[in-house]
Amino acid sequence: MKPYEQLLLNNKQWAAEMVRDNPDYFNALSHLQTPEFLWIGCSDSRVPANEITGTQPGEIFVHRNIANLVIHTDVNLLSVLEFAVVHLKVKHVIICGHYGCGGIKAAMTNHDYKQVLNMWLRYIKDVYRLYRDELDAIDDMDKRADRLTELNVKEQVLHLSKTSIIQRAWKHEQRPKLHGWVYGLKDGIIKPVFQMDAGATIDPLYEFDDL
Ligand SMILES: [Zn+2]
Repeated sequence: MKPYEQLLLNNKQWAAEMVRDNPDYFNALSHLQTPEFLWIGCSDSRVPANEITGTQPGEIFVHRNIANLVIHTDVNLLSVLEFAVVHLKVKHVIICGHYGCGGIKAAMTNHDYKQVLNMWLRYIKDVYRLYRDELDAIDDMDKRADRLTELNVKEQVLHLSKTSIIQRAWKHEQRPKLHGWVYGLKDGIIKPVFQMDAGATIDPLYEFDDL
């Protein structure tokens, strides 16, 4: 059997198990999607949103990219954010990074990953530059990468708060709460590192006054 055929076989077994436990499972799910959470995580295969939070299909709306970045020209991410906030009306947006992130480690090197990846990693280098003094003072490179992972999550949460999508929802509906989390590959535990409640103060430079 080819590896991908195993996936299809697993899928049939999973679907059968779900129906055995709850005959109406797929019928109910197919009619309604009302997740309370938008998850913006890393693409890393070891950080699956549903499994590590003990949630089921239908509970978390998910977007993933390398090193969980919020980039203001990323139409993919902004479409997901707008749909989740404006249409699904999620109450929480979670940015979840993870210790041991390959994207974070790559951005700390001077290696040429060729144009497209260089472009992506540059956003992480920009975060490093903001916190250069604190990060350079950490001698252990793994610990330095861990700290950059936390600071990167914080910066991405701040990026969310700079969007008119979030500011409009904050002003008119007092949601969503923004969360910055970091998942530990070694112990499976999620550590909250940053949070912004609806209406939190942001740098006036990024504030829209006519929402
Ligand atoms: Zn990662």
